[in-house]
Amino acid sequence: MGADIPTSSAAGSPTDDALLSAARQGDSAALETLLVRYQPHLYRFGLTMCGNVEDAGDVAQESLISMARSVHDFRGDSSVSTWLYTMARRFCIKKRRRSKFAPTREESLDAPATDVAQHLADPGPTPEQTATNRELATALAQAIATLDPSQREVLVLRDVEGVSAPEVAKILGVSVAAVKSRLHRARLTVRGELAPALGRPSIASPRGVLCPDVLTLFSQHLEGEIEPGVCAAMEAHLVQCHHCREACETLKRTLAICRQLPTPNVPASLVASVKTAIHAFLNQR
Ligand SMILES: [Zn+2]
Repeated sequence: MGADIPTSSAAGSPTDDALLSAARQGDSAALETLLVRYQPHLYRFGLTMCGNVEDAGDVAQESLISMARSVHDFRGDSSVSTWLYTMARRFCIKKRRRSKFAPTREESLDAPATDVAQHLADPGPTPEQTATNRELATALAQAIATLDPSQREVLVLRDVEGVSAPEVAKILGVSVAAVKSRLHRARLTVRGELAPALGRPSIASPRGVLCPDVLTLFSQHLEGEIEPGVCAAMEAHLVQCHHCREACETLKRTLAICRQLPTPNVPASLVASVKTAIHAFLNQR
């Protein structure tokens, strides 16, 4: 599965590469189209990585302005999305360093997650569905916030943004194996945190002596890492083991919630400030 960003001209819109080469030749409309295309993705990345709306806005804005400034230096040896997420990640790290020394927030721990979830939750067809979506998005934002930063960035890029594992490895500058090992651990943690919101106890019921580590196996299976024989053995176990089946079910639902987080509406004030900054930069040249 690749990033869910429309990088091809399937819908009749120009590809990233076409826009990029036009932008490098000084076509400011092409540059703006590219920035508008990535804005919601970077905003969502900032929301899930930083866990608060203000920092997410800064991350999206700083990444897009950096992109505009460095469009001529970009060598094209990676995709536009890899390049942008690499920049956005750096801004997230800077934010984190700064916030370590910042005074402790006064609001309750739940407040930022609820705030973030308001931007991330899909409005449902009914008020009940909207409330459920919001509740799950809040629980997910809280679960992601509990992850160690090195696991959080892998899960957000792979499972929320839909970036491929080799591309995540490029963004982080680590091996694909390291990405996958962090990813499996992160998925298990988030599943455990999300279980109560999915109507399941957070403490997994004790596995039987013969139970394999189905959660890791299932996660590896999704990444295409499991031999068909192992897969068949796992499926045979699931048929007869209720505990493992429940555990797998909550992992599936957790990942579905990650993947179905909509790209948020970027606040109008953020769109306007990015536009102003980029026009100011283009006029300087
Ligand atoms: Zn079992």
